[in-house]
Amino acid sequence: MKTNTLVYGELKNLGREIAKTIDAANDNKLQSKERAANDSKLQDDEQSFQDSKPCVSIAIITDQNVAALYLNACVESLEDQGFHVFCKVIPPGEESKNGEVYLSILESMAKDGITRTDGIVALGGGVVGDLAGFVAATYMRGIKVYQVPTSLLAMVDSSIGGKTGIDLDAGKNLAGAFHMPSLVYQDFGTLSTLPEEELINGMAEIIKYGVLAGGEFYELLTPDEDGNIDLERLIRMSAEYKMDIVSRDAKDMGERQLLNLGHTFGHAIEKLSNYEIKHGFAVAKGLALIADLSGRHGWCSEETRDSIVGTLDIWGYDLSIPCDMNEMLDAIAVDKKRKADYIDLVVPTVIGNCELKRMSMEELYKCLL
Ligand code: ADP
Ligand code: ZN
Repeated sequence: MKTNTLVYGELKNLGREIAKTIDAANDNKLQSKERAANDSKLQDDEQSFQDSKPCVSIAIITDQNVAALYLNACVESLEDQGFHVFCKVIPPGEESKNGEVYLSILESMAKDGITRTDGIVALGGGVVGDLAGFVAATYMRGIKVYQVPTSLLAMVDSSIGGKTGIDLDAGKNLAGAFHMPSLVYQDFGTLSTLPEEELINGMAEIIKYGVLAGGEFYELLTPDEDGNIDLERLIRMSAEYKMDIVSRDAKDMGERQLLNLGHTFGHAIEKLSNYEIKHGFAVAKGLALIADLSGRHGWCSEETRDSIVGTLDIWGYDLSIPCDMNEMLDAIAVDKKRKADYIDLVVPTVIGNCELKRMSMEELYKCLL
């Protein structure tokens, strides 16, 4: 599967960057024609391609919070480049990631006359990114999506890798598709308005990448003597780390599973709290628990365990486990019913290396209790 392009810049340049992406795609088409054509024929083709460059419509999907802050800048930037812009603004929050909202957006895009050669901009956090990505994956069997994440969690995780979807009554993300964005465009300036809680929510995923990558990345997770942290650098390192893994394992068959570090327990905790505990905060608890488990069973040293827990502590996470282990195992088992009888637990061995440990539910039960 083709990997997406990651670009950092200001929202006011979004239109230009999307136009460049479209031009590059057209150039690629020309290049493949080139192989088949002789020189004089190619010149004709090139000319006709430029002349027939279509007027592209873009549907911006965003939520009310983000619209109030950043929609105008995006619309202006796209219109400056000659795009025809439509806006779809949804209420903020996970509740909007449902079938009803999804269908209403598809219907309104059809009414607007959006075609297969047009595109979607997903402007917002993970909710908007997942929903808009799924709309793009399915509208007329798939149109281009440009992910413009504005939350920390979306910048380092959900906007990258092409997983899209909506929630069903039976559970989160149960309907979805893989659909790679043609561009991921990140403006760090948008983080200035993100509530502190959402920053900490996203930081847990960054810590996860740091544990996986180790080295300088891991060291950057600890503030310097003056209490400063290079957040932009950490975002770049995280986003690129994920891009790299996804480019080798787009469909989540092997290496990409390492990105689930902290998530087996994290997902269970999130679910058992009825999603009152946000994803990142649950992942932080899951990371601490798997580090503790690994330390106890000798999969990693006690030093490594203490280091991971210490890093989470610096960021002020509440690492207590708000459910009993039996409940947790039940929640994991229910999740796994859809797959097989075993689970692939991601365990840290040292900072900078994690391994998949395949175990049955009974084995997991034994090592947890
Ligand atoms: P996620 O944590 O997966 O990104 P959401 O998409 O629900 O989840 O985003 C979290 C919340 O932050 C939402 O209420 C959203 O409207 C809000 N939000 C996203 N980006 C920004 C931003 N740059 N400034 C202010 N609020 C934002
Ligand atoms: Zn996650």
